[in-house]
Amino acid sequence: MLKISPLFSGSKGNCTLIQSPQVNVLLDAGYPYRYLTEALARKGLTPDDIAAIVVTHEHNDHIGALPVWYKHASTPLYVPLPSVDWITRRVGCSDVRGISGAFEVGDVEIQRYECFHDAACCYGYKFTCGGSRFACVTDTGHGDAALTDFLRDSEAIMLESNHDEDMLKRGDYSYSLKRRILSPYGHLSNAQAAEVLRQLSGSAVKTVILAHLSEQNNNSELAFNSAVGAFASVGLTEGKDVRIYVANQYENEVTVCID
Ligand SMILES: [Zn+2]
Ligand SMILES: [Zn+2]
Repeated sequence: MLKISPLFSGSKGNCTLIQSPQVNVLLDAGYPYRYLTEALARKGLTPDDIAAIVVTHEHNDHIGALPVWYKHASTPLYVPLPSVDWITRRVGCSDVRGISGAFEVGDVEIQRYECFHDAACCYGYKFTCGGSRFACVTDTGHGDAALTDFLRDSEAIMLESNHDEDMLKRGDYSYSLKRRILSPYGHLSNAQAAEVLRQLSGSAVKTVILAHLSEQNNNSELAFNSAVGAFASVGLTEGKDVRIYVANQYENEVTVCID
């Protein structure tokens, strides 16, 4: 059994709570510590209840809360192996473990997917507990067959749907930032996410959480409609064959349970 609660999702900070019968795990901790601990408290949890924090990559929207976190707690921190030294210095944690393959936290096995992103190293992860699987991939510039293969056997997935390409191109971001986001090492657009979802027809995926939306260059309705359209194009109906949620930056009520 796995319970997935996106707490914060977007360019200002990311954090997802993953719960199994034995452990509570945080995937990234990029939103300010105070709000993050308030969100955990609403779930009846304190930092001491977290068995591990697993980090996707070293960008601030994924690790921003950690320097304050490690003034209060001594949670084991798992980060991509190439980022161990940098993150250790940045967050002041004395128990940083480098990820170079599959690993376990309590009854949860965690596997990685290597993203295309302008970080030292960026991983997506798949969490498996018994027969339940949840995969999360954000901060990747393009989808490929390895990505759809990685997501295919999970009942629930969290997938980046960062921007609407037209909004981004017309918006007031600098040319260099636009180029970075649109590059094959930036972020997945709604259309790119839709293409990944289309490739997942016939897979185990029944629940999709769209994540890491840009506040300036996207909105929930555009991302949702794009994903609904992708599934419709392969004969799948939202609400019947597949359920789609959009995680947002500030407040997320949804918790997805996989038995
Ligand atoms: Zn990033
Ligand atoms: Zn990010």
